[in-house]
Amino acid sequence: MTESKKVIIVGGVAGGASCAARLRRLDERAEITIYDRGPFVSFANCGLPYHVGGVIPNEASLLLASPQLFHDRFRIGVQVHHEVVAIHRETKTVTVKNLLSGEQFDDTYDSLVLSPGAAPLKPELPGLDLPGVFTVRSIPDTREIRGWIAKTKAKHAVVAGGGFIGLEMAENLRHLGLEVVLVQNGPQVMISMDAEMVSPLHTHLEKHGIQLRLNTPLSGVTQRDGKLVVNGDIETDLVILGLGVRPETGLAKAAGLTLGARGGIKVDSHMRTSDPTIFAIGDAVEVHDLITDFDILLALAGPANRQGRIAADVIAGRDSNFRGVQGTAICGVFDLAMAQTGATEKSLKRAGITDYEKVYLHPKHHVGYYPGAQTLHLKLIFAKPDGRILGMQAVGTVDVARKVDVVSALIQKNGTVYDLEEVELCYAPQFGAAKDALNYAGFIAANHLRGDLPLSQWNALPADAFLLDVRDPDEFTEGHADGAVNIPLPELRDRLDELPRDRVLHTYCGVGQRAYYAVRMLNQSGFDARDISGGWITAGMMA
Ligand SMILES: Cc1cc2nc3c(=O)[nH]c(=O)nc-3n(C[C@H](O)[C@H](O)[C@H](O)COP(=O)(O)OP(=O)(O)OC[C@H]3O[C@@H](n4cnc5c(N)ncnc54)[C@H](O)[C@@H]3O)c2cc1C
Repeated sequence: MTESKKVIIVGGVAGGASCAARLRRLDERAEITIYDRGPFVSFANCGLPYHVGGVIPNEASLLLASPQLFHDRFRIGVQVHHEVVAIHRETKTVTVKNLLSGEQFDDTYDSLVLSPGAAPLKPELPGLDLPGVFTVRSIPDTREIRGWIAKTKAKHAVVAGGGFIGLEMAENLRHLGLEVVLVQNGPQVMISMDAEMVSPLHTHLEKHGIQLRLNTPLSGVTQRDGKLVVNGDIETDLVILGLGVRPETGLAKAAGLTLGARGGIKVDSHMRTSDPTIFAIGDAVEVHDLITDFDILLALAGPANRQGRIAADVIAGRDSNFRGVQGTAICGVFDLAMAQTGATEKSLKRAGITDYEKVYLHPKHHVGYYPGAQTLHLKLIFAKPDGRILGMQAVGTVDVARKVDVVSALIQKNGTVYDLEEVELCYAPQFGAAKDALNYAGFIAANHLRGDLPLSQWNALPADAFLLDVRDPDEFTEGHADGAVNIPLPELRDRLDELPRDRVLHTYCGVGQRAYYAVRMLNQSGFDARDISGGWITAGMMA
């Protein structure tokens, strides 16, 4: 009988816990030990903001598995309050420090898995260590925040940073009845998405009483009369830092493992580091972006869990490979959801990819005649000329995840806009439409690629563009593009002689549908007409 493998896992939350449990299922004889420096393993970090806000009232609900459960169910040894402080590759040992007793000891491994996660960014700015300034990563963090709010009877909070964690914290502090100011260094929150797709969120935050201060970098925190003061002028009771995260690579770096250009641990598709006996997974590693071909950092629970399974497979002797990532993510703020998969225009530009096109659409999430239909804002980006889907962003109150998830699955299979035309989705009036919004996204994009629907974009119009608005006069009166000529669609066939034949007619309506009819008719009548994608609603989002 061969000897059992000894596997040490550093970090026992998303990636580490997944890896340990999977490994046990594959190898009954492996000796598996998890060390975590925190007091808990396998807790729901993603639920932390909602526990602060009282939406998840019981802290215990965040604990998905205890050390006892790991022992009883899997015979996996879990040591909490134990920090791995050094890796000795030549002897295949780690030095572990018991944070309660201060005692240190060495432990040996055949395979070592690093899943240490990412630490919240805390820039070198004055006052970020003052009492009342918090980051959000662990259950003890939420205890401190809740305790501080109760102790100081806090009425006001500043959240610095409008990423996922900052936004979720801002919402949850509002749930507690606090006044919230959100400061963001640039012109938009949720910088992982394209600016125009985030504009409904800006309005939504204000609607829910969150004061949004864009282009306001955090410059520091001071104390005045028992209060905290942010940037010298915002008096508050507490400050939450949601400024992003950085991969925890200290151990790996000290052990001489190779890091990537973005500062994460470099791994191959087996999740192996530059040392074949050491694996690394989760927020600490660089991952391959399937669309841009770049190695990136991506702090998301799904990839961390999947990578944990793959490392376990490989340690158990299977040839599993991590495919790479598309950055599929969702964030909810009050009842608005923003989701994305694949590339954004920003990420394509960063990668120098220019042979793409985009379409906007603003459909109802289910048929309009059924009560409760809600508007979705969708942006589909696809490659030219083959129509491969590169990315989708969606914003709305209902069904946002479903739309993006379907596109995400298609992207993994190299799906095209022609596949999207044909995608077969559930339909009954309360759930969708016989021609689903995603089919429409495919129709519009495929029509464009087939040459049936020339497109133009609001942000790429020539300065002297001829703008044709085919909406009804009352819609035109409510608001229209400067210099636009209004000929409502029903009158268009009778008024063709009012239009120039020697100019491009950039045509728009509310969302793009009537403009499409107009463009079809105009182009068959000898004009050069184009549909401005997404119509007047998109113009509003880009304003
Ligand atoms: C507030 C919050 C909300 C989030 N919401 C979402 C969400 O909605 N959706 C989503 O996809 N992702 C979300 N994430 C991100 C997601 O939680 C992470 O991507 C995921 O947990 C990463 O898994 P990991 O195993 O790499 O690291 P983690 O889950 O962070 O686990 C790392 C563990 O390693 C331990 N550790 C580190 N160094 C050592 C050491 N030297 N010795 C011993 N132990 C060590 C740490 O104590 C920690 O417990 C959220 C994160 C936070 C903080």
